[in-house]
Amino acid sequence: MLIYDLSFSALTNLLKEWNEPTYRAKQIWQGLYQQLYYSPEQFTNVPKALRDKLAEHFTFSAFTVKTYLDSSDGFTRKPLFELPDKQVIEAVLMRYGDPADYVPSPAAEKGNKKRRTLCISTQAGCAMGCVFCATGQMGFKRHLTSGEIVAQVMYYAQMLRGMNESVTNIVLMGMGEPFHNYDNSMAAIDRLNDPDGFNFGARRFTISTVGLVPQIRRFADEKRQVNLAISLHAADDEERLAIMPVNKRYKIDDVIEACRYYVAQTGRRVTFEWALINGVNDTPEVARKLAARLQGLLCHVNAIPLNPTAGYEGRATDRQRALLFKETLEQAGIPCTIRMRRGIDIQAGCGQLAGGLHS
Ligand code: SAH
Ligand code: SF4
Repeated sequence: MLIYDLSFSALTNLLKEWNEPTYRAKQIWQGLYQQLYYSPEQFTNVPKALRDKLAEHFTFSAFTVKTYLDSSDGFTRKPLFELPDKQVIEAVLMRYGDPADYVPSPAAEKGNKKRRTLCISTQAGCAMGCVFCATGQMGFKRHLTSGEIVAQVMYYAQMLRGMNESVTNIVLMGMGEPFHNYDNSMAAIDRLNDPDGFNFGARRFTISTVGLVPQIRRFADEKRQVNLAISLHAADDEERLAIMPVNKRYKIDDVIEACRYYVAQTGRRVTFEWALINGVNDTPEVARKLAARLQGLLCHVNAIPLNPTAGYEGRATDRQRALLFKETLEQAGIPCTIRMRRGIDIQAGCGQLAGGLHS
């Protein structure tokens, strides 16, 4: 079993079974999530016999690092993680800003200098089949365990510590649909959030969903402080259905209604993700339609020119059209940010590298 799959209470129970004093659980937990130990020998804070027992019962690494390409822009690092059953997932560290950066501006770069955003996966592949998405094109392989989700964060936390840095933001926007793997995704967030452990603030997480309505409502009821992003990409059911099969089950109105419920329950702003596809969803007319649907909702739109993928013929919107889309939305009262993706030269866009390996 992977050590990161243990909750603190499961660890406590196990040590009880092993007839260890209860404070050992805390020592191991701190070793894992505060000292960032990655191998049983490092736990010099517990007796050797217990270290050996840990080594015997648990694995400390969830995956082997398969490919590592460094983007020529020097900002993007991208290992591929191979799980024991050979499934491949990805987690991307962005050195500045969000996974997709703002339109480059020296001031924004300066302000964001210490920002280290980590984009992690929740599934190998994805069952939602969005046509423009490389992960969707791969199909569903399996859910990740909570420990496999946590392990992606620990890998980077350990790496950054060596450079005297740390992860500042975590987005669940890598491979997979987090709300399709709800319990494991939330368990991973809770484990990382533990004040006696890794202590990563809830508000520094963002969870991105294709728009699974019952889970949005459940998430709202749990009143989590985690940021919520919804992948909308179209302002009209027919157009959304053409690129996102999930729209057959959950219509745009239902998704937006669930978002209104979320805002009412939490008082938090919702983000709508919008991949700008040339000639498909980037016209001023679409922007006006979108703005009309979002009226009165505490939200903003995060628009990113499409990352072209092998399985979809759509092309990215150019900068000028992107800015017109933004202006049109904002004139109608809906705040919008245009982001430019980094690392396209190493295919660091969502699911692209692993997708390439599978095809
Ligand atoms: N399954 C979740 C989270 C992972 S995808 C979701 O869909 O929200 C993370 C974001 O990348 C989503 O907004 C998704 O729509 C977007 N995305 C996927 N493929 C893309 C592409 N080729 N270009 C731009 N954005 C893409
Ligand atoms: Fe899955 Fe998200 Fe890709 Fe859609 S965009 S296929 S939900 S990972």
